[in-house]
Amino acid sequence: MKILVLNCGSSSLKYQLIDMDNEEVLAKGLCERIGIDGSKLTHKAEGKDPYVVETPLPDHEAAIKLVMNTLVDPEHGVIESVDEIAAVGHRVVHGGQAYSSATLVTPTVKKVIRDCFELSPLHNPANLMGIEACEAAMPGVPNVAVFDTAFGQSMDEKAFIYAIPYDYYEKYGIRRYGFHGISHSYVSKEAVRFAGLDYKTAKVIVCHLGNGASVSASINGKCIDTSMGLTPLQGSIMGTRSGSIDPTIIQYICHKEGRNVDYVMDILNKQSGILGISGVSSDFRDVQAAQHEGNHRADVAIQSFVYRIAKYIGSYITAMNGVDIIAFTAGVGENDGEIRKAVCDYLGYLGITIDDEANAMRGKERIISTPDSKVIVAAVPTNEELAIARQTLALVTSR
Ligand code: ADP
Repeated sequence: MKILVLNCGSSSLKYQLIDMDNEEVLAKGLCERIGIDGSKLTHKAEGKDPYVVETPLPDHEAAIKLVMNTLVDPEHGVIESVDEIAAVGHRVVHGGQAYSSATLVTPTVKKVIRDCFELSPLHNPANLMGIEACEAAMPGVPNVAVFDTAFGQSMDEKAFIYAIPYDYYEKYGIRRYGFHGISHSYVSKEAVRFAGLDYKTAKVIVCHLGNGASVSASINGKCIDTSMGLTPLQGSIMGTRSGSIDPTIIQYICHKEGRNVDYVMDILNKQSGILGISGVSSDFRDVQAAQHEGNHRADVAIQSFVYRIAKYIGSYITAMNGVDIIAFTAGVGENDGEIRKAVCDYLGYLGITIDDEANAMRGKERIISTPDSKVIVAAVPTNEELAIARQTLALVTSR
């Protein structure tokens, strides 16, 4: 059975066609600059040269049609007919409080996605466009929404509630939702399986460290806590996002600079984090290069980032009354042994020791702690597309 996985941004559409019989990626690609001059498709099919099509893509429906035509193209395609696609799994960022697992798209589901536009203004409208484009291009093929917020729905109320008047939760759903949920749930499962622990009882901390960064604590797939909040702005320091700050800072900058809240929010989302502290870049490789050259602000940026991750880990160990495995994932977490080591240097009190050779390796999932380490530490590549495909398959085959 073949599943198409879509991850739509406001002007982009990423896709993978996965054969679920062996979980092999048959083809993947990206449509860029949808609705903007210079749009193009870059398509890569297993065993074939990359294929690039430069053509106007006025909207997501045009992009989906081009993807379909490319997938069945005799030279560059991988299937004979669109009928071979059993279902489409869509990454949807915000599902509010309505969905704690993947769900088949219906008019009600689309309404919920639309109702969450205000909470996820950059992603949810694009996610819905992707769904509606598939409905138009592939009538009758089921669409499944896999929510980034679903994982965080299992948090207890004491963990997700903000200490503001309860009315705001009841009236507007203001609570912590958590994001990167598809990754946290996938990596926690993979890490436990790989380490040979019992999934039902293992206490797992996942550090998803990419451009966006978040930490989660979970047991048996139940999210005990996770660092992001109502939006992905809360929590650890990120590439361009500030993470948690004293909210008074917003008012203070508004008064000092005669700006409005929207302006300051934009600064907190796009000009802060590693970029804001270092002044160098939002990309960890650039900031680390500057740190190695003795740039003070780059050094502070990296050190603050590491320090805050370590503090989240410490607090989540308390929340779970222990930890069996800590897994690092995403761009930085998977690739950057220096950051992993620096975080673990804070955790010596737990009896954690890192195997420097395993930590320096790249690529596959691996245990990076020594055999006598009291807690297992692992680097586990995330695979959100496969996670979406698995959930989509489970849903369409159980109908
Ligand atoms: P997102 O999906 O949130 O955009 P990624 O998970 O792709 O982000 O992570 C992007 C970050 O990972 C960038 O800051 C980049 O510098 C960092 N990164 C990617 N590869 C490496 C590497 N080999 N070493 C260190 N950092 C890396």
